[in-house]
Amino acid sequence: MKTKTLKPFFRSSNGLLALLVGALAMQPAWTQNNTLPSLGNGEGISLGVERQLGDRIARELYRDPDYLEDPVLDEYIQRLWTPLVKAAAARGELSPELQERFAWRILLGRDRSVNAFALPGGYLGVHLGLIAVVSSDAELASVLAHELSHVTQRHIARSMDEQSKMTPWVIGSMILGAIAVSKNPQAAQGLIVGGQAAAIQSQLSYSRDMEREADRVGFGVLSDAGYDPQGFVGMFNKLQQSAGVNDNGAYPYLRSHPLTTERIADMQARLQLNGPAKTTPGDMVQAMLGARAKVMSQNGVEALRAWTLDSKATSAQVTLAQKAGALYAATLAHLQLRDGPAAETALQSLLPLTVQNPEAHRLATLLQAELAIRQERFASALQILEAASSKPFKRPELMAAAQALLRLPPRPERAAITLQLREWVTQVPNDAQAWNTLASMLNLQGQALPSLRAEGEAQMARMDWPGAVDRFRAAQDWARNNRLQAGDHIEASIVDTRLRQAQAQIRAIQTER
Ligand SMILES: [Zn+2]
Repeated sequence: MKTKTLKPFFRSSNGLLALLVGALAMQPAWTQNNTLPSLGNGEGISLGVERQLGDRIARELYRDPDYLEDPVLDEYIQRLWTPLVKAAAARGELSPELQERFAWRILLGRDRSVNAFALPGGYLGVHLGLIAVVSSDAELASVLAHELSHVTQRHIARSMDEQSKMTPWVIGSMILGAIAVSKNPQAAQGLIVGGQAAAIQSQLSYSRDMEREADRVGFGVLSDAGYDPQGFVGMFNKLQQSAGVNDNGAYPYLRSHPLTTERIADMQARLQLNGPAKTTPGDMVQAMLGARAKVMSQNGVEALRAWTLDSKATSAQVTLAQKAGALYAATLAHLQLRDGPAAETALQSLLPLTVQNPEAHRLATLLQAELAIRQERFASALQILEAASSKPFKRPELMAAAQALLRLPPRPERAAITLQLREWVTQVPNDAQAWNTLASMLNLQGQALPSLRAEGEAQMARMDWPGAVDRFRAAQDWARNNRLQAGDHIEASIVDTRLRQAQAQIRAIQTER
């Protein structure tokens, strides 16, 4: 069977231009009208259609070169996100049906801009620039809670009229286009004539009523999840300050969520505060994770050099947390600049600062293992992880240990780490990075069939159906041409089932179009 591959969307600015102009030329019914359907007027598109649309957008984002898989930051954002989803469910904002049918997945983007956005179907996009700029978990959680509430209140669905002539395919293209514009405002302004980009963005944004509702619901969710509700105010202040000094497009979040005085007043009334709110100082763990996001979103040599010399690392005036953040940034920046010895020196100053704080110490240890891996000291990386962490490993430790083992001659830890990876993907079957790591580990141990199946599962997790078909077919070929080992018969029948599922997905997409 010949399958069409999906078109990549926003690789180039020219492609983006064509996409935006093409979408505009169609002038569908709901874009001609500036007002979105008001709250309570019907439900807009159905749960199923919205999820389908979200899957389509996420599938493209997974292929984007800016899409980031980083076990440390993934774990962080997940740690903030899980209690918010739980609180929304407990408050009745999130129905069991919605919880079951939507994805509830966060995709990180390696982008310096301060941005977060809810996508259809329960996907959220978060740029590293946002993680880098917040000064507390509560501030970051407040943005997630606000975006989560756009999803639970079905704001996206209500903004779209199922009766419109636009197919989800076209709407998906427009949303991807808007994301691309937010990532590169200069290029977009240069290319698109007559403010068409702005027009499209305003059509994709929420109404004021929706913003107010997302603030109100988000505030309740944030507090119920156990975060300091001051997080909202801290974030508002941060956005407001930057709005004054900084109109260079580094804060696309402000454009999609204009910070009206009314929103700020509402929030302060909610907190029963009159004076300006204070931002929380933030703890050491948050400072280190913010530093990681900051360095990973930048690859310019000059910025990296600046962080290696951050005066906070040596100044007596700053808090211990700030100092740890600066040293973490310096270590990672030296590492990006391929200066191993300097990275080691910065790390050796960081480690003693973290001894009183187990989670900060864990992050410093993970950084130490990362440094060892980058310097190809794989046995030492493994030793660092084994000495510092209890079993079973958490995900970042597990991924780092596997990375080291993949480069080492056979050793006893191999089987144990492979087993842990297997157990992990059984619990979290949509973890593409873990499936890929498991595939490499199995391949190393001569387990060809399970390894090919794991490669297929990684493609399934990213909804790359043609990619999955390719891997499952390779697994079938292998099974036909080789003598099966114990356990291979079960794998082979799983492969047959999964292949049929991937093919069904491809057929479904073709009929939609
Ligand atoms: Zn909003």
